[in-house]
Amino acid sequence: MAQNALLIKGAELLDGRVTNIRIRGSLVADIGVLEPLQGEQVIEADGGLLLPGLHDHHVHIAATAAALASVKCGPPEVADQAALAAALAQPGTGWLRGIGYHESVTGGLIDKAWLDKAAPRRPVRVQHRTGRMWIFNSAALDIVLATGAPPPEGLDRQTGRLFDDDGWLRRALGGTPPCFAAVGAEYARLGVTGLTEISPGNGAAEAAHFAQEHASGALPQNVLLAGTLALPETPGLMRGPVKLHLHEAALPDFDETVALIRAAHAQGRNVAVHCVTGTELVFTLAALGEAGARKGDRIEHASVTPADVLPDFTALGLSVVVQPHFVAERGDEYMADIPASAWPDLYRLRSFREAGVPMAGGSDTPFGALDPWAAMAAAVSRRTRRGRVLGAVEALTPEQALGLFLADKLDLARRRSVAVGAAADLCLLRQPWAVAREHLSASLVRASLIGGRLVYNGVDKPPA
Ligand SMILES: [Zn+2]
Repeated sequence: MAQNALLIKGAELLDGRVTNIRIRGSLVADIGVLEPLQGEQVIEADGGLLLPGLHDHHVHIAATAAALASVKCGPPEVADQAALAAALAQPGTGWLRGIGYHESVTGGLIDKAWLDKAAPRRPVRVQHRTGRMWIFNSAALDIVLATGAPPPEGLDRQTGRLFDDDGWLRRALGGTPPCFAAVGAEYARLGVTGLTEISPGNGAAEAAHFAQEHASGALPQNVLLAGTLALPETPGLMRGPVKLHLHEAALPDFDETVALIRAAHAQGRNVAVHCVTGTELVFTLAALGEAGARKGDRIEHASVTPADVLPDFTALGLSVVVQPHFVAERGDEYMADIPASAWPDLYRLRSFREAGVPMAGGSDTPFGALDPWAAMAAAVSRRTRRGRVLGAVEALTPEQALGLFLADKLDLARRRSVAVGAAADLCLLRQPWAVAREHLSASLVRASLIGGRLVYNGVDKPPA
């Protein structure tokens, strides 16, 4: 048989039916009473739930690929000074790249001198957990300064800290973009078949690299690529919103922001605006109010949402892309740093639902864990790592949490389903939903298909 031919037998669908699903080529060809045809591959689903493949609505793939080859420098793996020094004292002579560092590890921000003591013999650079700062040791600083690229304003040679200038660092390192195969495989294992890549600097060069990595099969997931106004249409990718990366300490000019939003809309594109503080959110809502919002404009993160601005989301018709796993990953630190009176504003979920705001889930990998199942579990439990509950009233049901990753990539209000004629981008679970909903975790994923092709096959493996 020339075309891909596959029959999934006895799978549960989200509407509760247990049925058979035939895949031909890249599409779902038939659903119902079906017998295997000659030469057809058969997967016995044993009543496991068959979902449309999950979509991660907010990712940074190049940084994630680099992170997979990096040393973890923050909680939970590294929690104190001694552990950080040990992590950086690995044998070797080449670059050592640390990620996820936070000053809570060392009781104050580390600098060049600190790194020189911990790791004097090889070039070391450590990224702050926010992704906005790098700290170099002396050997590393010598290398990046020797390339001749004029040092940027954000670099302080005394402390070895570089703030907010990854573009300069990439040029100074002369780096070629990383291979995405490891990230693609990890996502396949998790049942993720689509990604919204949302790094603010994405332009023509990044688009070309994504198209190549997708065409080669290294990154099998379908990509919606957000980025700059200059991001071109690229064969093999779908062009997404214009990303605006706000930063409370240096907010852009209001009129320029309004003009940028209008320019994105004039291209027929939405905007996706990074808002992690209340101030950034209020600024963005005002700018969108002035420019005029377009259906599909998105707020990324909405980490802090004062109750009195919720009606503005509805009035402007905005969608929101949330990271419920930050409750688990960062909740303990927030509860220590932020007064209890402000906790209700953190990582709202149910409030957005009740206000009728279309909502989808994104990992923000590598700044958050890329496992959507962990995000769903956190959306339901609202539990921090230490087991405290942050904002119980913001919890979602397992069905609502799953829905965050079933949202259509362009219309976050729409939930996809397994249907005849739809792309065979699918995720098969080991168990029916009634069982799976009680213990949402990545070990549920039994197989993943993209365009009718099995990209992860854990069918024969025993459940973890
Ligand atoms: Zn992000």
